[in-house]
Amino acid sequence: MRRLRNVKIVATLGPSSSDYETIRGLFEAGADVFRLNMSHGTQDEQRARYDIIRKVEEDLGRPIAVLADLQGPKLRVGTFADDEAELVEGASFRLDLSDTPGSQERVCLPHPEIFAALEAGSSLLVNDGKIRLKVEECGEDFANCTVIVGGTISNRKGVNVPDVVLPLAALSPKDKKDLEFACQLGVDWLALSFVQRAEDVLEAKALAQGRAAVLSKIEKPAAVRCYEEILEVSDGIMVARGDLGVELPVQNVPPIQKKLVRKARAAAKPVIVATQMLESMIESPVPTRAEVSDVATAIYEGADAVMLSAESAAGRYPIEAVQTMNNVAEQVEGDYTYREVISASRSSTVRRQTIADGIVAAAREIAETTEIAAICCYSQTGTSVRLVARERPNVPIVAMSPITKTLRQICLTWGAHATRCDEVGRFKMAVVNAARAAREFGFADVSDQILVVAGVPFNVQGTTNILRVAPCDERLIFRTDPE
Ligand code: PGA
Ligand code: MN
Repeated sequence: MRRLRNVKIVATLGPSSSDYETIRGLFEAGADVFRLNMSHGTQDEQRARYDIIRKVEEDLGRPIAVLADLQGPKLRVGTFADDEAELVEGASFRLDLSDTPGSQERVCLPHPEIFAALEAGSSLLVNDGKIRLKVEECGEDFANCTVIVGGTISNRKGVNVPDVVLPLAALSPKDKKDLEFACQLGVDWLALSFVQRAEDVLEAKALAQGRAAVLSKIEKPAAVRCYEEILEVSDGIMVARGDLGVELPVQNVPPIQKKLVRKARAAAKPVIVATQMLESMIESPVPTRAEVSDVATAIYEGADAVMLSAESAAGRYPIEAVQTMNNVAEQVEGDYTYREVISASRSSTVRRQTIADGIVAAAREIAETTEIAAICCYSQTGTSVRLVARERPNVPIVAMSPITKTLRQICLTWGAHATRCDEVGRFKMAVVNAARAAREFGFADVSDQILVVAGVPFNVQGTTNILRVAPCDERLIFRTDPE
């Protein structure tokens, strides 16, 4: 089974997508990565979904990536005496630490760290940014605010504090438990919510100890500001447009998306564009034209993956949503303008410093100038596959590794078709096996030529130093190649 597109599809699992038939159906429709959202549901529910994904993987013989998305330090107000209250524009509203049920005048905000960081003039956003408060006066246990935009506020609604870097631990006690649970389960990727600084990522990586790769969700202005440092220490990026569009004016999101995607690609790290991509499909079997255009834009920008949240987790049409993304991707990528845009946006900021950088650039150049059916890349950690993908070559990338975790993790990388290979010891067999893999998955015929990217000695990390233009016909390889 192979995909006829390069961009990958991430589908969030939830109540609408928890049984074997649906999860298998999502994979067959095009989902390459499944996201377990730790903000919802119990560990037992996530484990059940995880087990089904691995069953589908085994039944279909294709690697599948699982991404566990940690809730992060999500801030919430307390409860109200009447479960809700109406805030009117211009009125005063007080936040404090008292756990007496709230009213129209005040409510508890059980986070002393926020009060410590607030200043007069700071904004507080409640309920996905629908309600906006301005701090007039604050102390260590209260903030007196004016209601700038009113509305109904109810029990435990989420609070965003966009202007300040909060002195919050990146990982709450719940996140730490979920992280350990997810690593023990065997997930391939962890996503960190509300990352504010590079140290947040390093803390998660220290806990993950290499058991899963760590992806940073960029959803705070502070993270946008220090994006370079965060990118440097992260294994991947998510453009988390939901919270980003709450913390910043919504019109700021598209240019930020472009910048985050471009820089992640230059760094050869996978980047996901997420949230509200096909929002109307939660209720409707067909998307709006604007949503189709949004998915297409992310693909033209060269994102590694596009993501479904509630559409696949809690919507009425999870499989149709994946099919829609798949159809849009095939159509966009089949268009000649796509090639032009992708090539033109090959970042001039890529610093070519290593032998591997030179080899992948040469591979793309050869693929563009001659008849090459596929680039077959041997990889231990996936790094060289990501470097090949960074070039966005115009032929399929067959990513070969003996390591299960690597095969699963590169399911998130643009264009990479992951396939297991035995540990190779000899050069000739590496070329023969690459040719066989390219043929087996329908990427090449006997009469075609392929490129093989590898490192000698084999099975050693970080040694990419071979670029071989090889025939797909084994008899020719046996005749010509050295042992
Ligand atoms: P969430 O993250 O769905 O976990 O909030 C994505 C986003 O904020 O866009
Ligand atoms: Mn979010």
